[in-house]
Amino acid sequence: MIDVNNIQKYPDHTEQIERLEQKDGVDKILPQHIGGEKEGRFCTAFLVLQQSSAKIFSLLEEEGEYEFKPLYNFSLENEYHSYGEIWNRDIIFQWEDREVIDVMQKKMKAYVRRFTLGEKYTLEQIDRLVEEGEWTDDREDPPECKCKNQPKNEEQLNQLDLTIISCAKCNSPYRLSIGGTSQTLYRTSFELDWIEGDWGKGCKPIERDCLRFYEVESDGETTTADATLHGLTRESQIEYPNFGYYRGDHQKGLLIGNPEIGSEGEIVGYLLWNQPGQVDRPCLQQVYVRPKYRDEEYGGRLLNMWHEEVVEESRYFAIDVSESGMDFLRNHNHVTEDRDCPAIPAELWGSWDTEGVDVSKTAAADVMRRQGY
Ligand SMILES: [Zn+2]
Repeated sequence: MIDVNNIQKYPDHTEQIERLEQKDGVDKILPQHIGGEKEGRFCTAFLVLQQSSAKIFSLLEEEGEYEFKPLYNFSLENEYHSYGEIWNRDIIFQWEDREVIDVMQKKMKAYVRRFTLGEKYTLEQIDRLVEEGEWTDDREDPPECKCKNQPKNEEQLNQLDLTIISCAKCNSPYRLSIGGTSQTLYRTSFELDWIEGDWGKGCKPIERDCLRFYEVESDGETTTADATLHGLTRESQIEYPNFGYYRGDHQKGLLIGNPEIGSEGEIVGYLLWNQPGQVDRPCLQQVYVRPKYRDEEYGGRLLNMWHEEVVEESRYFAIDVSESGMDFLRNHNHVTEDRDCPAIPAELWGSWDTEGVDVSKTAAADVMRRQGY
């Protein structure tokens, strides 16, 4: 496993990778690395794009010696978009290539995890895991902790000033605490009064169609809206294991609330998006409506509100869309046959910095497949 505090002991691949990109025929390289300019970059794997071919190279270690080996070849049917420079790059692949991208990503992740999580798979094991769907996107039961007398986990987030207390067995959140102040019941965090109240910091609602929307963007101070959004993404992840948590960094959210529900009004769902530094359009990541409020058109109103009032661009990338997500976008005319439509379904890959908390089973590539409506 990589010792992130001691990365000088690993080989520096900066020059080697940069030289490789200069070679004839090489269009783009997408490295997965740790470290930076100062301490040197240690690469665990990289993707080489040459016209319509994509090759995965991974570092293999033998008795303390590291060597890059070409492992897999894929071929792409469609053009891709590339943004940024090699060490901070985003590649956006077209949705039509999603099956091949999906396999590529799983294989690449398996290699990166050899270093970041200490999981050592053989080539054959990785092939089998990918084929057998070890990392499937199967949906699980909606969250509702019914575990009796299970111990509780307490977790302090890095990027948000938020403590979460959750069930140690099923991960359902119970309580939230902002900035170490008194705890609030997780259920309370859905109440519109709580989000707008002065416990922590208020959040100005946008009224539309008798609904309330709250834009959430972490600017350093953790607000009640940040806490609600984080809690909800945590809940959605229990249902959809590949959904990532909202962590406040580089992500923005839009909460949708209905003042007519319950005594205080309630949050019914959220939409999550970001715009990586170099990419010229917003990237829609997740749309989620809480299970008990589905089939009431909240998802569609959330999507339209976001597209019409929140983002400036008329077209956006819809990232990692599932089949049901495509149906949702088509039903709302965000994807149409003639392609003169708001959504551009796509798969986004970045040069990961493999350091830190984001390297986990759930967040390795910020993959958010499947949407819950
Ligand atoms: Zn539980």
